[in-house]
Amino acid sequence: MIVSAHRTAHVVAAPAKLNLFLELTGKRPDGYHDLESLMLTVDLFDTLELTATGLDTVRITSNDPALPTGETNLVTKAIRRLRPAGGVDIVLTKRIPSEAGMGGGSSDAAATLVAVNAMFDLKAGIAGHAAALGSDVNVFLTPPAGWCTGRGEIVDPAPVGGTFHFVVVKPPVGCPTGEVYKRVAVPNVKRSGRDARDGLATGDAEKLAAGLFNRLEEAAFAVAPAVRAVRDRLLATRPLAAQVTGSGSAVFALCGTREDAIRVAGEYPRTDERVYVLRGLERDR
Ligand code: C5P
Repeated sequence: MIVSAHRTAHVVAAPAKLNLFLELTGKRPDGYHDLESLMLTVDLFDTLELTATGLDTVRITSNDPALPTGETNLVTKAIRRLRPAGGVDIVLTKRIPSEAGMGGGSSDAAATLVAVNAMFDLKAGIAGHAAALGSDVNVFLTPPAGWCTGRGEIVDPAPVGGTFHFVVVKPPVGCPTGEVYKRVAVPNVKRSGRDARDGLATGDAEKLAAGLFNRLEEAAFAVAPAVRAVRDRLLATRPLAAQVTGSGSAVFALCGTREDAIRVAGEYPRTDERVYVLRGLERDR
């Protein structure tokens, strides 16, 4: 994922993800949920420029004034896990929306672990650090896609057999993940991710569309009713399918072709929501 490396500065691209399938399989004693989820990275990227400073600090500057840049930021936490004293300046250019279910903070953390490991030649195992930082961090260590189990941190890389096209709509409201999980119930009868996995592996968008599912969707609608309205407006443009990603609040439409994704984005009513035309990544960058 390292795009370029100078003597002390590393520039890293951190992609967003979409959950093509998400089912809950149990509630754990630690309060988390066991799940099965198929995640695909897409071509919307945050970029991080990391520079070793030799100072005992971690400094983040970002184009997003709402982003916390202190010790609560997952990027800072990722650096502290590998280099407790710090010694890194980061310019973080945010393009992935927050509280969207698109994994922006998790992807930034994964990219930071990889970059810091390389910059300082640490040769550290980073999967354990990734899992400690969040449930969705590990999948970004093995792009482009993963079948995720446990609380999301156990990742079996998933084959991607073609180019998939999406329109993603992010309403202004955000869905805090913890709030959504408070409203979910583990079902007695589980949905299977087989069709979604097969569709992704064979490049078959219609099969993938038939297999799309997200057990968190109704809970996300309960937390933020505007998200249901986004889903309904997207469905009215007749894509192959549309659903919430992760715990929301972004909703994606799966389209058969790039042309159809551009049509869907064009027909989506003009609102104060952000609209993205994206494609799935197909191999490690
Ligand atoms: O691990 P992460 O920080 O992404 O999780 C945020 C919150 O989402 C957790 O505190 C938990 O309430 C909920 N969660 C869950 N089961 C998961 C992942 C997250 O209940 N598998």
